[in-house]
Amino acid sequence: MSGPVPICRACGEPIEDPDDAVYLGHEEGNSGPGWDIHAHRGHVNQVGPDPVAARAAARVLIVKALES
Ligand SMILES: [Zn+2]
Repeated sequence: MSGPVPICRACGEPIEDPDDAVYLGHEEGNSGPGWDIHAHRGHVNQVGPDPVAARAAARVLIVKALES
């Protein structure tokens, strides 16, 4: 397996062991394709609410605010 080592969203350290990396979702970048979000298996609970779901919810609130 090659490619960049995923970075833990909770602690910011690289996740060297692929079996220890938990995929949390994909985050869109302001420019470019964005990036995947990972965390150590033991750190998932420290990341908090699903960041992708939180962003989607925020986007809905922004749209509603603009419509009113
Ligand atoms: Zn971690």
